Amino acid sequence: MKKKTVSPLCIDIITVLPKLIESPFQHSIVKRAIDKKLVKVNIINLRDYSTGKYQSLDDYMYGGGAGMVMMIEPIAKCIEKLKKKKTYDEVIYMSPDGELFDQKMANRLSLNKNLIILCGHYKGVDERVREYFITKEISIGNYVLSGGELPAAVVCDAVIRLLPGVISDETSALTDSFQDGLLSPPVYTRPADYKGMKIPDILLSGNTKRVDEWRHERSIERTEKRRPDLLK
Ligand code: SAH
Repeated sequence: MKKKTVSPLCIDIITVLPKLIESPFQHSIVKRAIDKKLVKVNIINLRDYSTGKYQSLDDYMYGGGAGMVMMIEPIAKCIEKLKKKKTYDEVIYMSPDGELFDQKMANRLSLNKNLIILCGHYKGVDERVREYFITKEISIGNYVLSGGELPAAVVCDAVIRLLPGVISDETSALTDSFQDGLLSPPVYTRPADYKGMKIPDILLSGNTKRVDEWRHERSIERTEKRRPDLLK
């Protein structure tokens, strides 16, 4: 019987610092997902789309002020070229004033086929890029980083580990914190007794139903204590 092949999620990342974002895709679960062809990640160097005499990608702010702004032309050329070959579900811009990233958004993004992620730098991109080319803006938290590369890697990692087949024991990703609106229960591994520090007896009982119940109770307890906001 012919094996059913699912077309992988394809993520095209536009950056001025390709080296900065390569490493997160070269290790662990994310690397294995790429090797298994469950996801394709293309890192595109914006410098290849630079124009003008000085091949610059940024310029001074209109109206004055400190800090450089990424120019519209190279970004527009790059996105337009990508769009000629593929239809994209979203053209994402990583930005501290975007929608706050969470597990729900990761779940939704994991259902897409083609994504572009644009990483900003300096003061960010010319506003017209956001107005005319970007369909979704994502922030990974209320703080400012120097570039969109680390945020893009965070989003990609969270999305990629959700793709079917990426984590061998599929239930594993589903029992992570936030997935069911609760934090994960505590976990233990060998030895059962380390210098008198013992694991809870229930985990040695072999009674999976009671273990499940115990874990669920611990999840609720932990969520109530640490993140009561999640229970509302
Ligand atoms: N002047 C901008 C910050 C620019 S930081 C402002 O105040 O909003 C430079 C780039 O880093 C941004 O263009 C964005 O791509 C990225 N970045 C910084 N912090 C981020 C965050 N919390 N989430 C997502 N991207 C972020």
